[in-house]
Amino acid sequence: MLRLHDTALGHDRELRTRAPGEIGLYICGSTVYAPPHIGHGRFSLVYDVLRRFLEYSGFAVEHVSNVTDIDDKIIARANEEHRPPEEVAGQYEAEWWDAMDTLGCLRPTQVPHATAFIEEMVDLIAELVGLGSAYETSDGVYFTVSAVDDYGLLAHQSLASLRSGARVEVNEKKRSPLDFALWKKAKPAEPWWASPWGPGRPGWHTECVVMSLALLGEGFDLHGGGQDLIFPHHENERAQAVVAGKQFARRWMHNGMVEARGGEKMSKSLGNVLTLSDLFEQSDPRAYRLLVLQSHYRAPIEVTPTTLSDAVAALGRLDALSDRLDEAVGGEGERADPEVRDAFVERMQDDLDTPGATAVLFDAIRRANVAFDSREAARATELTRSVLECFGAVGLEAKGATEIPEAVLELGRRRDRARADRDFASADVLRSEIVALGYIVEDTSSGTRIRR
Ligand SMILES: [Zn+2]
Repeated sequence: MLRLHDTALGHDRELRTRAPGEIGLYICGSTVYAPPHIGHGRFSLVYDVLRRFLEYSGFAVEHVSNVTDIDDKIIARANEEHRPPEEVAGQYEAEWWDAMDTLGCLRPTQVPHATAFIEEMVDLIAELVGLGSAYETSDGVYFTVSAVDDYGLLAHQSLASLRSGARVEVNEKKRSPLDFALWKKAKPAEPWWASPWGPGRPGWHTECVVMSLALLGEGFDLHGGGQDLIFPHHENERAQAVVAGKQFARRWMHNGMVEARGGEKMSKSLGNVLTLSDLFEQSDPRAYRLLVLQSHYRAPIEVTPTTLSDAVAALGRLDALSDRLDEAVGGEGERADPEVRDAFVERMQDDLDTPGATAVLFDAIRRANVAFDSREAARATELTRSVLECFGAVGLEAKGATEIPEAVLELGRRRDRARADRDFASADVLRSEIVALGYIVEDTSSGTRIRR
């Protein structure tokens, strides 16, 4: 049974889903106004690992992640660049999916766009106004946070202490500094949709509560995002659901931030943002996945040239082991080592202890190499298969053996059969064929080994 830390409770608890064997995840996605950076990469990788491990564990996963395609930042960029907001959003959304594909993140099963749910958002806002928990001002409609008894549940702070810490905004129209915009009335030349409060657009916190409930239904299993979204974004999503009388997410999961050297949080204002495309130029995209796996998802991670090159070196050990599997051509079995698999699963089930799980696998890599060196082909193969299977379960694929096309491997197997039949003329012809295709042929104790 998988145990996960629940932000609302502040401790781990067993994952029991609404329907056995099924799980619905809503993960806050991206606001598409700039190229995706490594912070986006981290949360995408964390939830991709969660999803893959759930699927590996037999769950049918409904993975919903939104695209915020209308927002102040998109409008600001569109104005700067003298082009329509939808063009800005379209461009950066395309960049987003390119980067996610390169990271090897599975596409969510559903990707709701905010602009496709405006009517539903207007309906919710009207309901909240009707209930007396929201009010109209000259620039929009605001939610009254004091309408929610346990406001501050996710932040683990009382309304009073949140209020005392709140930044006093320039906006004097709000009744309380924590009240937040449900609807923003359009300024001249801004994009707008019709509403009972005049032309405007929805606030961000309303987007996610509406889309998660619309697509996953009440009491969906898990709501996730970065720790920077706990307050106010997720607190405010939840507040709206509470007032509307809807059962919201059953549990909450939040990942840690990316830090630059010296524990400094990555932020655009610091000017130290590394985009994912920068990262892909500097390193194997798999290195970032490994780096994310080697840190606990709730802890901060440091992404520096050193941590990345350490990850690349570790990947080299995985790839080299995968290559050695060819040494065992004709060796025993398709079986993976059950002990390694069990140890891996046990670590993962403990609040996704990916650092512990990867340590289990790197230890198995070391033991597999020892077994290969001492020509224990069956043992080496078992260990190697367990390493490849378990890394595969969290989306990390070895390069190497997989790069050699099946047709070429088949030539190797035919050569082994020819040699076994002492048909050395045919074996030589097959060797020449493989070499002509650009591969190196080596004879090992267990048969033909093919390398690039
Ligand atoms: Zn959200």
